[in-house]
Amino acid sequence: MGQEQNPFNFKRVKRETKKVTGLIGIREDPHLGLGAVGAEEENVDMTPEDLQAASDYYGEIMAAKLGGENKEQIKERFRKIDELMVAPEIWEKALKYFHHRRDYFIEMARHVRNKGVSHRRPHPFQVGCVALGIEPDSIKGVKYEPHEMYNFKVQPGPRTGRYKRCAERGALEIARNFSKVIAAIITVSTETNTGDPSKTEGRVLHPCFDCRNMYRGLLRGGFIREDTIICMVNDANDQTVIEETTVGKLLSIYQDDLPNIPA
Ligand SMILES: [Zn+2]
Repeated sequence: MGQEQNPFNFKRVKRETKKVTGLIGIREDPHLGLGAVGAEEENVDMTPEDLQAASDYYGEIMAAKLGGENKEQIKERFRKIDELMVAPEIWEKALKYFHHRRDYFIEMARHVRNKGVSHRRPHPFQVGCVALGIEPDSIKGVKYEPHEMYNFKVQPGPRTGRYKRCAERGALEIARNFSKVIAAIITVSTETNTGDPSKTEGRVLHPCFDCRNMYRGLLRGGFIREDTIICMVNDANDQTVIEETTVGKLLSIYQDDLPNIPA
């Protein structure tokens, strides 16, 4: 384990995670990274251990969600996602759905946060994220589904861009395989700073520079929207702090990222 230089790919997921009984069709997105990690092996700054971990984590999560599909079923799933039209009333319903269940989603993110893999001691840096997606449903036509993930870094050392395995990126990568568009992104952490300049005033953890760039890309692709809700929760103290805004508003206070974005 961890000795081979195998890239992250579906076969490897299939072999290493016993829960996978069939193929896993993973959607590639230039702004995310899950599918692209193995494809660009030569310039990957992830270690083989990181790749193995990505394979294990995502393989198990995807397998649990899908339960084994054949190629045709995978194609069909993506076709239905692409065909789903999100009318304004569906969008409004999704936002309401989020607000009615906000405490539940916060609890979900809080729970998955505990799996976060960090090398910082004595207090590991852990973030949990839930991405609420709007998805096709064979009976109702449309449904709203949460997808959760935690941050992980298998070995110490800096990571940037899509190789930085933030909870937000993980949750959105998984959601990308099921959802047409994301209505809300919920994060829970005891942290208030990722290490890069933040405008959070010490209350909650804002998405890091790499995640903000990911959001900018996903906005252009339509997977998230200007009015997708961002709900950031800090539970370091007895009193849980909740800051709720939208992707558009959040990015507007980080305009000074723009000159620093790598081409
Ligand atoms: Zn991040």
